[in-house]
Amino acid sequence: MRRAVYPGSFDPITNGHLDIIKRSSKVFDEVVVGVLVNPDKKGLFDIDERVTLIQKCIAEFPNVKVQSFSGLLINFMKSVDAKVIVKGLRAVSDFEYEFQMALMNNKLNPNIETVFMMTNAKYSYLSSSSVKQVAMFGGCIKGLVPNEISDDIISKVNKEGDKGIWKL
Ligand code: ADP
Repeated sequence: MRRAVYPGSFDPITNGHLDIIKRSSKVFDEVVVGVLVNPDKKGLFDIDERVTLIQKCIAEFPNVKVQSFSGLLINFMKSVDAKVIVKGLRAVSDFEYEFQMALMNNKLNPNIETVFMMTNAKYSYLSSSSVKQVAMFGGCIKGLVPNEISDDIISKVNKEGDKGIWKL
């Protein structure tokens, strides 16, 4: 079985992420979306909430699962028995960081390969941060995030927005 992991913060999942998930679910037998627990970065949504939002969006893809993880990605890969990392590339600015991560992960475990998927041109400008920013200032996030979760994002931003504790 060819199993891949698609790791990220997903705070929250956007249509850009979902597009990569959809496309990679056609290339691999199984895709595990790995939600990284980063203790240094307080997000808008906590980890369990991010996982729940992703679950709502992947219901139609039987070969896609979601799980949170902390620590090294290669250790998570081992625990789910996957050898391929899927990453999305939006712009040249993503490249330098992703290049470094891919080489580091390959150095830590030479059996791990990173596969890059180019963003869908429709979503090349889209990031979780920009979605949060638009929502925070009352803009319309329709078309930016899956319909199933747009109300969840708006109500969360309305609840947390003025506390100023979460990072865009
Ligand atoms: P963000 O940068 O939106 O906070 P993450 O850190 O959760 O996203 O990113 C997880 C992965 O998804 C990364 O490989 C990132 O390059 C990719 N990704 C994020 N947004 C898009 C998009 N609009 N199109 C393609 N790939 C994307």
